Amino acid sequence: MTVVSPRTGAEAVRALAKDPKAVPLAGGTDLMVGWNMGLLNGRAIVDLSRVTEWQKITVSRRSVVIGSLVTHSEIQKHPVVRTRFPLLVQACATVGAAQIQNRGTLGGNVANASPAGDSFPPLAVYEAIVHCAGPGGNRVVSIHEIFAGVKRTTLRPGELIEAIELPFPPWVPTRAVFRKVGTRAAQAISKTMFAGLLRLKKDGTVADVRLAFGSLAPTVKRLRSAERFLTGRRLDAAAAGGAAALLIDDVSPIDDVRSTRDYRLEASRNLLVRFLEGAKR
Ligand SMILES: Cc1cc2nc3c(=O)[nH]c(=O)nc-3n(C[C@H](O)[C@H](O)[C@H](O)COP(=O)(O)OP(=O)(O)OC[C@H]3O[C@@H](n4cnc5c(N)ncnc54)[C@H](O)[C@@H]3O)c2cc1C
Repeated sequence: MTVVSPRTGAEAVRALAKDPKAVPLAGGTDLMVGWNMGLLNGRAIVDLSRVTEWQKITVSRRSVVIGSLVTHSEIQKHPVVRTRFPLLVQACATVGAAQIQNRGTLGGNVANASPAGDSFPPLAVYEAIVHCAGPGGNRVVSIHEIFAGVKRTTLRPGELIEAIELPFPPWVPTRAVFRKVGTRAAQAISKTMFAGLLRLKKDGTVADVRLAFGSLAPTVKRLRSAERFLTGRRLDAAAAGGAAALLIDDVSPIDDVRSTRDYRLEASRNLLVRFLEGAKR
């Protein structure tokens, strides 16, 4: 097997450009499963583990930029990410178990594009921006634009994820919740996942709200209809029920090996109602 070990992002891009069939390897937690199934036979590996510039978390006045090779464990320890982006921290703490969190990277989670990627609902409500580097230069896309379907991204040939940027939200949420529903409390692939941020005004009406679900559809979904419905409305049981009824306007739950459509829909509506009913000024 051919393994190339670039030291910089530019070298990694060049290595992929030379051999478009080569596979980038970050923590390997997804890739090694494919290897065991023979999916990598005959393909060269571009090992990213020495690309130190993509292993950093950088804080500026407007955002936090998480290098693609930062692991789920490192995200959980970072003081600014913990304070300002707690839903991402909670999601990273539910990825597999400690061994997977120690090796698995945020960039690998996004590039793998599983419908059940735990980081995606938080990345959606924090309106993350994905920084890509490729033979045609660098570009940025929103977290929604990077996903094309189940295990498919819109990364162009030879392109790599260099970082995921989290802009500081312009408001401080009154309520912030991440929930993952799986078969077990640990080491479970989710059936549904929810992330919500909400700010109430003094009069109890909704000033700002961002809602996202993962594992319900091939890609993560923001609940734009429910967000529009809730904004400016007094948050009572009727408003929560109205928002839950709008869930299927934005996301039509799938049936698959992990769960049925009906279970997913019911559990997701319950997560949303509990989130809204728990909001207090
Ligand atoms: C036992 C087990 C349990 C798991 N549990 C969970 C879970 O609960 N939740 C969850 O979300 N995931 C889970 N996973 C999946 C996996 O651990 C995560 O998706 C992890 O974040 C992948 O990161 P990695 O660095 O290991 O990626 P790798 O395996 O190295 O790569 C994954 C894919 O992304 C590509 N890639 C990696 N880095 C880049 C980059 N910078 N640019 C472009 N392409 C890139 C690779 O070529 C490959 O196709 C689990 C995996 C295992 C084996």
